[in-house]
Amino acid sequence: MTFYCINCFAELHDDGGQCPRCGAAQNLDRRDYAAKLRRALGHPIAETRRRVIFLLGEKRITDAVGDLIEILDHESDPFLVEEAATALGTIRGDQSLAALVRAARHRSFLVRARAIEALVCAGGIWRERALEIAEHDPSAMVRESARGKVE
Ligand SMILES: [Zn+2]
Repeated sequence: MTFYCINCFAELHDDGGQCPRCGAAQNLDRRDYAAKLRRALGHPIAETRRRVIFLLGEKRITDAVGDLIEILDHESDPFLVEEAATALGTIRGDQSLAALVRAARHRSFLVRARAIEALVCAGGIWRERALEIAEHDPSAMVRESARGKVE
């Protein structure tokens, strides 16, 4: 797994110590780390925001679910929305999955594919709804992303 500096988001070679680029100490406790990541969602560079969204999902920071849903519902950059869909699929919980059902009808097929995939993985009623939505999707890629997860 790749780690990023909590201050400048440079790539790190290990999880501890200092950032080679900005010198920031990396040994924050989980609470500080989560708060810092959530603030970084407002970073001016989209690529950095994308990394932050990825990390929020990877670390399963449930406090960020509201922020991620906000991105899913209102962000205009489809790459950021796609990353938010992936993060919410990793964190799960009813609130995240309900937002992914909305995203399964997003205007970007990348986002729809990602949302469908996450819902299928979540299983149960979520999987049923995802398959139903995907069946009527105009994009072959979206229909495939549902089928690929069905055994
Ligand atoms: Zn740094």
